[in-house]
Amino acid sequence: MAAYKNLSVEELKELKTKLDAEFEEVKARGLNLDMSRGKPSAEQLNLSMGMMDVLTSDTDLICQEGVDCRNYGVLDGITEAKQLLADMMEVPKQNIIIFGNSSLNVMYDQIARAMTHGVLGSTPWAKLDKVKFLCPVPGYDRHFAITEHFGIEMINVPMTATGPDMDIVEKLVAEDDAIKGIWCVPKYSNPQGITYSDETVRRFARLKPAAKDFRIYWDNAYGIHHLYEDKQDQLIEILEECEKAGNPNLAYKFSSTSKISFPGSGIAAIASSDENLAEIRKQMQVQTIGHDKVNQLRHARFFGDINGMVEHMRKHADILRPKFDAVLETLDRELGGLEIGSWIAPRGGYFISFDSMEGCAKAIVAKAKEAGLVMTGAGATFPYGKDPKDSNIRIAPSYPTLEDLKVAAEIFVLSVKIVSVDKLLG
Ligand code: PLP
Repeated sequence: MAAYKNLSVEELKELKTKLDAEFEEVKARGLNLDMSRGKPSAEQLNLSMGMMDVLTSDTDLICQEGVDCRNYGVLDGITEAKQLLADMMEVPKQNIIIFGNSSLNVMYDQIARAMTHGVLGSTPWAKLDKVKFLCPVPGYDRHFAITEHFGIEMINVPMTATGPDMDIVEKLVAEDDAIKGIWCVPKYSNPQGITYSDETVRRFARLKPAAKDFRIYWDNAYGIHHLYEDKQDQLIEILEECEKAGNPNLAYKFSSTSKISFPGSGIAAIASSDENLAEIRKQMQVQTIGHDKVNQLRHARFFGDINGMVEHMRKHADILRPKFDAVLETLDRELGGLEIGSWIAPRGGYFISFDSMEGCAKAIVAKAKEAGLVMTGAGATFPYGKDPKDSNIRIAPSYPTLEDLKVAAEIFVLSVKIVSVDKLLG
């Protein structure tokens, strides 16, 4: 099929009549489908049910420290869990702190502490007139929600195929000491599935921020979440690069087992330099006597070690891959060559990012809703929910069944076509 922009008005009108008729047929089916959030499906959650059996009423619950996991103690995580997550996050065991069930919670706390207490002796951000954050876009809505919540001004930085535009990042952080951080999802990014190149990571590590309390908020949520055996992205390790560049305190690295075991019932961690972690531990001991060690032990015993975890991720990939492939196949088949949208085929993570013609994303999401398909709200991938081009839409293929997903993908492409024709007809 020819590019829509090359069609005459008559041809567009004819096409619209045909598409509208198709849409009415789909609408009449009264469907109820959801491609809005990156949740694992029940089938994926079932993969971790063995975790329920590793600890029973007669299991020995003494961890390697010799502490009874049922009781208080071991503030920053039991050795077994530290080893497992350190291997997963590719950092030394001594450079990690295990937290509770959510890495987002750790990120929130990190910002909250900077607001009230500063960072390694700096002025608490709450006492400053202005605090700003760089936000690579499109990005993760919940990151932006945290910085918005604390009244931090967010500055968009465009993503490129190799990560955030580093010319802009370097320039802005060097000239403005109100810029205190940047949100990064460096591997299989949310929503584009982009992995930062070696050069991008090294440029991050070599940053020369005007603000001494500037930190990189490196959310490696999808570090081992590959879709394919033969096509996997590689990300070099940021903390090591920071150390080599003489900037050991520059980055906080976050991760969790949310999309490995159970979202909301996994374990989360932060990794950073000795100095940064010492500061976090000091504040942490006021906040809690310790996190859930029973859950830490359950995870450590279920996975055994990083090899067990990697093996487990292959099973997730086997479930996710056909779903991603189905959506990508539909996009290629139905939209290829029409020049009304572009998308990236990711090699891992949880999302496919779609860019419509400018000014169409909100209308596409609304159109899909009319036919019973819920998508992530257009604009959600930008700070303040404002996509300046109104073009980015995040597709989350993980949760629906494969059958539902195929129908959902057809509704999506139909909605894209109709809204694009409307736009071209003015
Ligand atoms: N970070 C990113 C980039 C995510 O996409 C998500 C969930 O979608 C999270 C963090 C949430 O992590 P957690 O469940 O550990 O809070």
